[in-house]
Amino acid sequence: MAKPIKKEPVMSVKGMHDIMFDDVHYVERVMKEVRRVAEFYGFQPITTPHLEKTELFERPLGEESDVVEKQMYNLRTRGGDKLSLRPEGTASVMRAYFEHGMQSLPQPVKLVYGGSFFRHETPQQGRFREFRQVGVEIIGDDDAINDAISIRVLFSALQGLGLKDIVINVNSLGDRVCRPAFRKELLAYYKRHFNQLCKDCKQRFKDNPLRLLDCKEETCVALRKDAPQMMDHLCEVCKKHFSEVLEYLDEMGIPYFLDVHLVRGFDYYSKTVFEVFEIMSPPQVVEEGDEQGVKPEVATFTKIALGGGGRYDDLGELIGNRKIPAVGWALGVDRVAELMKKKSIKSRPETHPKLFLIQLGPAAKKKSLVLMEELRKIGVPIAHSLSKDSLRAQLNIVSKLEIPLAVILGQKEALDGTVGVRSMETGIQETLPMDKFIGTIKSRLKEFS
Ligand code: AMP
Repeated sequence: MAKPIKKEPVMSVKGMHDIMFDDVHYVERVMKEVRRVAEFYGFQPITTPHLEKTELFERPLGEESDVVEKQMYNLRTRGGDKLSLRPEGTASVMRAYFEHGMQSLPQPVKLVYGGSFFRHETPQQGRFREFRQVGVEIIGDDDAINDAISIRVLFSALQGLGLKDIVINVNSLGDRVCRPAFRKELLAYYKRHFNQLCKDCKQRFKDNPLRLLDCKEETCVALRKDAPQMMDHLCEVCKKHFSEVLEYLDEMGIPYFLDVHLVRGFDYYSKTVFEVFEIMSPPQVVEEGDEQGVKPEVATFTKIALGGGGRYDDLGELIGNRKIPAVGWALGVDRVAELMKKKSIKSRPETHPKLFLIQLGPAAKKKSLVLMEELRKIGVPIAHSLSKDSLRAQLNIVSKLEIPLAVILGQKEALDGTVGVRSMETGIQETLPMDKFIGTIKSRLKEFS
């Protein structure tokens, strides 16, 4: 007889993971909160496909950008079409704007989207190959008020999720008029320090010098301190636009830092760019010899980028052959969810049941189905173990779940239309007609909230 071949169980793909149980509620809560705030400000929802034509991303994001060069999941269909799993949302939303003739709607068109995105990055803390983003785009108007409104939505949503100590880092990247001179000066500066650059930055120097400012390598970070700033090169139009954005932020009391070297990962940005951080509070002073501890002076400066965005007035030309000004951002849902958990913020309003249904016998089991539906209709959550038949097994579960009240439906109760309600703390049980139980249970449960 042939020996059975021992096969390894199939596991999920590296960098892509299952989201389970309460983590799903966290992800949903972040998505819902952004959408709730955005819809208040007049945004409309849009969902775009996970697969797009590769060309949608190649030029618009920048052929030398990390995402296009190294991180896109590209595939070729049997018919020979080149498709990619979407690495970000803005290009798709912009495509949809043109494809559905949204230029003929009142401008600007304000859209909110969310879902999974894919980048072949090295998986690490807060960085996955499939991750979730939720974002907004305001398309068709270049007024600085739009930049401010988009930041308002971002800030309010994070606050609504219970995240305090949020700060926005802002900068302006200028436009086609003023950026070339800055680029030239940047190149001259880095040329003088070329030998100190890391390997990647030596390549960036040739392909995309603005990204030199974005490198996380220690030597490059040190070099950045004295690098030229776009702020000193802004033309009058960009300067005015940026100061208006800051005025609006001041007016709304949104805290921001001017980060004069902030650039973003994609080529399509112009004028305003921003990133949002949760400033971690300084940790307690650590005992000497405590290896787990973090040095306070290090931790004070630790920041987690939760999201980012900016203005992209030139993207329309690349996607729809028309200059359409726009601004938007994307928030990393996984990172926000993780932060909420770390801060013990709940994933949703309290829904832990305070009631457990115990049923004994076939008639009671059937009646339980009706009772549960009655409770669902009046919004009372109930735990149960309908597949267990013995009283002891069900009582064991109630005590494990620490539920204060048990509703008992036995053969007798099923026949005469009553239920037993037992306090798990005192063991005292009373019998109530079913309709009285339904009518009074909500107020009764209040004493346990
Ligand atoms: P980006 O589209 O690169 O501007 O990213 C916007 C936000 O999405 C970031 O600030 C992160 O919070 C999140 N993000 C980007 N890439 C990843 C990734 N590989 N894994 C998890 N979150 C990500």
